[in-house]
This record gives sequence, structure tokens and C-alpha cells, in this order.
Amino acid sequence: MSRAELIERLLRPNVSKLKAYSSARDEYLGDSEGMVFLDANENPFNTGLNRYPDPLQRMLKEELSVIKNVATEQIFLGNGSDEVLDLLFRAFCEPGIDNCITLPPTYGMYAVLAGLNDIENKEVTLDASFQPDTERILKVQDDRSKLVFLCSPNNPTGNSFNLKEVERLLNEFNGLVIIDEAYIDFSEKESWLNKLNDHPNLVVVQTFSKAYGLAGIRLGVCYASSEIIKILNTIKPPYNVNELTQMKALHAIKDRQYVKGSIQRLNDEKKILYKALLEVKFIRKIYRSDANFLLIEVDDAKLRYQQLVSKGFVVRNRSDQPLCENMLRITVGTTQENAALIRTLKTL
Ligand SMILES: *Cc1c(COP(=O)(O)O)cnc(C)c1O
Repeated sequence: MSRAELIERLLRPNVSKLKAYSSARDEYLGDSEGMVFLDANENPFNTGLNRYPDPLQRMLKEELSVIKNVATEQIFLGNGSDEVLDLLFRAFCEPGIDNCITLPPTYGMYAVLAGLNDIENKEVTLDASFQPDTERILKVQDDRSKLVFLCSPNNPTGNSFNLKEVERLLNEFNGLVIIDEAYIDFSEKESWLNKLNDHPNLVVVQTFSKAYGLAGIRLGVCYASSEIIKILNTIKPPYNVNELTQMKALHAIKDRQYVKGSIQRLNDEKKILYKALLEVKFIRKIYRSDANFLLIEVDDAKLRYQQLVSKGFVVRNRSDQPLCENMLRITVGTTQENAALIRTLKTL
């Protein structure tokens, strides 16, 4: 099936008919040099931020295009990954009619966004080794299944999904396969970005919130076919990525050394933490992680969580998720924070 045919089959009819809002910044695309801008009802006095930001974030996409080796027309930027994921629902899923598939235990936002958009969420629990149960996913899909969410490395389990399973879903799932790579920079596994042009239904989502250390600026990135990106551009709020965010992200991309160093340090710290946790008696299992956190199984998660809070440490109790009974998720902190955590765990 061609990219255009796929889109035609998946896109909501109302979105297909929609004409995008055209902002002042969209309509005049000529040189800005020497021009007087009286087209957008902006305040003319310079505050550094009196002008609207570039609605298509062109400079930022140019830079991302270079470091990710993806064409600018295949990049979409959103107010965090959360906005990107929400727009995918709004573009492709008809409320009350279509459905999506998620694979718990996983990131909670997929289910929240499905609920918000009135989309049935078919849950197919991961298998005992936290891998997708591809057979069952393909069995539960129907002709109203529009999206399947694969989080790899997965939150909260930390593992990456096997290439074979993902490849099979890309070939046999009827809708879009969204691979959430929020933690990919911590992993040695290859990003699915390299396969973007092999699969018309592949959508890769990344973020500046984790490895880049910029959760506060709210910047999520979506990579997909130019046809899918065009649709997201049509339905997004005109100025969804603000000027401060665009400037800060440009600096971060240019300062690759800082980002690389931060990833290296966290991965080193994760190894140290892993070893130290092995010596804590009430920890029954520590899962291997390709991300910046570790999932551990303890004797009594509620008790250990409360004890840690009383000593000044906040971790995440994931016990309410399938396959995660008595499991805590611990984010890798600084050297000092991790050492203090270990000292405390050993006193409990
Ligand atoms: C942290 C995280 C994100 C990041 O979301 P933002 O809205 O970009 O901050 C996305 N997906 C997963 C699985 C995460 O754990």
C-alpha cells in the first residue's frame, strides 16, 4: 500500500476536509531583512519576545535534520511528546468508533489520551519477559484499530523490544505503529529512525525531556512520512512551540558535548547503582535497563516506598501495573543522590 493510500484509509474524514489556520507568519514567507512587520498585531516595542515564534520551527528542524539524518519535512515538533501523541489521536481516531492498542505495563499517557479522545483502548499485556505479544496484538486488531503504541525502551520496565516483534507489527498491523523512544539516547540499541523510509506506517516519537535534560521546556519530536507530518501541521495550534523553547533547544543541539557527557554519566551511575542494589537484602530482582531508571522487585513495595519517603527519597511505586506487583521504579540521580539512597536502603 502506498503512503497516500494508507493515509486515506486511516485519516478521520473531518480532518481530511480541514483547512489549516493560516497565521500572519504563514502568509508572508519572504525575506525579513529590512521589512516592517505590521501584519500580526504584535507589540512593536522590543522585549526580545514581542514577535510570534516561527510556527514551523524551521531553524530547529534544520539542526535536527542534520543530527538525526531525517528530512525536515519528516519532522514535527510539539509541546512535549504529550501534545504529539494527542494530535495523533485527533488526526486518526474517530471518537466512539476507532480503537488503539497499548501494551501494559507501559507509559500511562497513552491510556489517558485514549480516554480523553473517547477512543477504546485494547490492552495487550507484555509477555513475562516484558516483550510484546505480537500474536495477540494481531489477533485483537480489527478494521477500526488505528494506532498501536510501542514504548522502547519501555517505561517502567526499562527493556527494549525485540527487533523481530516490532518488524512484524510494522508489516502486519493495519494502522500506525508509534514507537516512543523517550529513552533511546541512553540505549545502545539502534533507533527506529533509521527505518523511517522503509515503513509508511512507522511513527517515531522522541523528547528533549530525558537525555537532553530539558523537561521544563516541553519539547517533543515526531518523525514520520512527510504525508503524516503534513497532517499534524494542519491540525496543530499555530504557535504550539514557544520562542523560549525553540531558542533553548537550538542551544542544546549545538552543545552536543554536554548532552553526550550527561548520558555517559547517567549510564555510568546506573551501573554503579545496579551493583549496589544487589546487596540490599529485601530487593528480590533488579531488571536490566536501557533507560535512565531501574525497575526493582522488593518484598513489600508499599512499605519500602513509605520508608523511603520518611527518609527523604521519592521513588515510584508501580505495583498497580500488570506484571509489576511489588515493583519500584528508581530514577538514576547524581552520584551523591545515588550513594545516599544506597546508604539509606541498607539501613531499612
Ligand atoms: C518521560 C516520557 C516521555 C516524555 O514526555 P514529554 O511530554 O516529552 O515530557 C514520553 N514518553 C515516555 C514513555 C516517557 O517516559
